[in-house]
Amino acid sequence: MNDRARDLQGRTNDGGMPAQGASAVGNRLHVCVGYSCNNNCVFCMEDDREARYARLRAQTPEDVRRMMTLDPDAREVMFTSGEPTLHPHLADYMRMARDLGFPTVGLITNGRRLAYKPYARELLEAGLNHVLVSIHGPNGKIHDMLTRSRGAFVQAVAGLANLAALRNEFPDLKVHTSYVVNALNVGYLREFFDAMRPLHVDQHVFNVMMPDGRGGADMDHLMARYRDVAAAFQAFVAGLDGDGRAKVFLLDIPYCTTTALPDPVRGYVERYFHYEPDGSTTFRQDAGAADGAIDADLLQASAIDGETVTYSKVAKGAHDAAMRVKRPECAACGFDDLCRGVFRQYVERWGWDEFVPVRPADPVP
Ligand code: SF4
Repeated sequence: MNDRARDLQGRTNDGGMPAQGASAVGNRLHVCVGYSCNNNCVFCMEDDREARYARLRAQTPEDVRRMMTLDPDAREVMFTSGEPTLHPHLADYMRMARDLGFPTVGLITNGRRLAYKPYARELLEAGLNHVLVSIHGPNGKIHDMLTRSRGAFVQAVAGLANLAALRNEFPDLKVHTSYVVNALNVGYLREFFDAMRPLHVDQHVFNVMMPDGRGGADMDHLMARYRDVAAAFQAFVAGLDGDGRAKVFLLDIPYCTTTALPDPVRGYVERYFHYEPDGSTTFRQDAGAADGAIDADLLQASAIDGETVTYSKVAKGAHDAAMRVKRPECAACGFDDLCRGVFRQYVERWGWDEFVPVRPADPVP
């Protein structure tokens, strides 16, 4: 047993969504490998696809190995960015992660290539045990419209069906879905939940769209107001039984807008970190500079010497620090310590009325 696995003796690893922990960085490592994508989502945050292609094509297997060995506190690795299943070495990377002792070897995917059962099996045999499939509607009409990819829904569902069928052979496998909630699909939460029932998904995560990348460029058309998302989710959850409520989770929405929701289904932001070439961070660092430098714990330049470039360690909080803001009243909010603020672009468009500080005496999740 190697050090990483030994460290985890006695820890719970139930495959649930990452909880808010003490660390601002989190213990989930995202390894970006998908230099291209076979979907073309209207709200994609990675809108500079040429830059992503050049960046990730230059990344070597040795670079990936160094990313996975630098931080001994990392407990989960998730392969992501673009569509990772298009990378020819993905299974090799998964074997590498498993052999390095990561208890959770994960994949964030649009699920389309998992429609090919031998490929799904190959990844599971390589160590994959946590799959998060991005699927944004209850049917092809909505999902294919949002992904601008005909047939994407049928393939994603076939992929989920293959994973369900393979569970007997891979009992540790956890399967989640990720539904990016926006103005065009917020009305279909229950329909989506019902459509997924036969697929034995462990958890449905509903991530509220971020006004960033393409979503930010077209936010008047795509962004659902937080108050409308919270109301829709409240009605959705009210109609579920206990088993259903235990499977759904709303993420990426300020706590003060979701006080009417039961605590177990509400979250805020996930914590994870990744590496990318120095100077190529995909958020606008200049935006954060107006509020002061981004904390060095969240953005460490030259953390890794790759084979041809040096990589910065970038925590999710660095993106938040650059993109989100608070107002003075937030200092009186019971969630102030946990909350990273509201997207600057959102409050510039719609103001602060929705964000009412929560009394300090109210329970903090
Ligand atoms: S700190 Fe501000 S934005 Fe965050 S939950 Fe409280 S009131 Fe809302």
